[in-house]
Amino acid sequence: MEIFKPMNLQKESQNINIENVEKVGCLIIGSGPAGYTAAIYASRANLNPVLYTGLQMGGQLTTTTDVENYPGYPGGVTGPEMMEDFKKQAERFGADIRFGIATAADFSGRPHKVTIDDNKLILADAVIIATGATAKYLGIEAEKKYAGMGVSACATCDGFFYRGKDVAVVGGGDTAAEEATYLSGLCRKVFLIVRRNVLRASKAMQQKVLNTPNIEILWEHQVLDLFGENGVEGVTLVKKKGTPQEDIVKLKIDGFFLAIGHTPNSDIFKNYIETDPVGYIKTVPGTSKTNVPGVFAAGDVQDPHYRQAVTAAGSGCQAAIDAERYLSGLK
Ligand code: FAD
Ligand code: NAP
Repeated sequence: MEIFKPMNLQKESQNINIENVEKVGCLIIGSGPAGYTAAIYASRANLNPVLYTGLQMGGQLTTTTDVENYPGYPGGVTGPEMMEDFKKQAERFGADIRFGIATAADFSGRPHKVTIDDNKLILADAVIIATGATAKYLGIEAEKKYAGMGVSACATCDGFFYRGKDVAVVGGGDTAAEEATYLSGLCRKVFLIVRRNVLRASKAMQQKVLNTPNIEILWEHQVLDLFGENGVEGVTLVKKKGTPQEDIVKLKIDGFFLAIGHTPNSDIFKNYIETDPVGYIKTVPGTSKTNVPGVFAAGDVQDPHYRQAVTAAGSGCQAAIDAERYLSGLK
């Protein structure tokens, strides 16, 4: 089977010096649980993978303290430590891990072309996209101040730390409804802060929220600030902003959960790779295959539902196996 198509590199990649072009068999983009797991499997399968880490080496878990739900760490582990272990395991089998950001992609022919840092062109027979998704934040200063000290964008990850306590969830979509419902099983009280007088969530999710006694919806409330000495102790809200009933409300809470959506890091691939309306890469169910042969997606960038380290790692494994089978079909 033909692997290479003749191409004019100068024409297609105007900014790239022809000497800064490298051909690889398997390129992995991203260094979270999905990317590193793909690298472990791909290197053990002799694919000699090259992995570009992106700006956040180790992925989202490097921004958290304790990870208590990843199997194999009975005493828990910190996010940065766990990701260092992933990296070491990938390196042990020879994965070539490099710092660099994929800044453009061209999947119109073969080999696939990915530009790194705007100045290097990688030609790859197989590409595994493992670029993750980024939680949206409100943009207030307090979110940074209390990061890891009461502010979280993942109830499944951090809810456990708030057992028996009072928390607030911001958002009115399915994620917020799901997070509030999950937290209601752990916490004494869950306030759901909704900026409008309706929920965007599906009717079924709305019913769940409305029928849960320890969830209280605060309609038409917006977050102004958080307060607390050594962590979040409360939130300041504005109620019915811009109306004659406008009021400032202070609420005592121990945890503040953002659930206003995620942005999958898929922008540079969108000209070629099918995504859903939010930007999650579509994969063939049960596989990591995208609509482009030889391009695979793993982890949060293709997962609007679970977004967990263990599911990301599992899909990284699938992507490496799918890539290996694809590459052996090219021989
Ligand atoms: P990510 O971890 O998001 O990694 C994406 C990688 O892609 C990064 O290395 C980034 O640098 C790279 N990248 C992005 N764009 C580019 C580009 N253009 N070029 C090159 N590289 C790029 N899950 C749990 O299971 N347990 C927990 O306790 C837990 N706690 C969490 C706490 C916090 C604060 C957060 C934010 C998340 C938590 N999660 C937890 C969720 C978990 O982190 C994610 O589900 C998981 O990291 C997803 O893995 P991933 O490999 O798909 O992507
Ligand atoms: P979403 O549907 O975009 O909802 C985001 C919510 O956050 C909206 O209610 C929005 O308010 C609110 N919001 C946004 N910015 C805000 C801000 N600055 N301040 C206060 N509130 C703000 O996102 P999502 O809930 O993450 O869902 C994304 C997609 O995944 C959806 O298609 C959803 O159906 C799907 N999903 C499905 C499930 C499931 O089926 N189990 C679970 C999770 C997600 P407004 O309503 O006022 O815009």
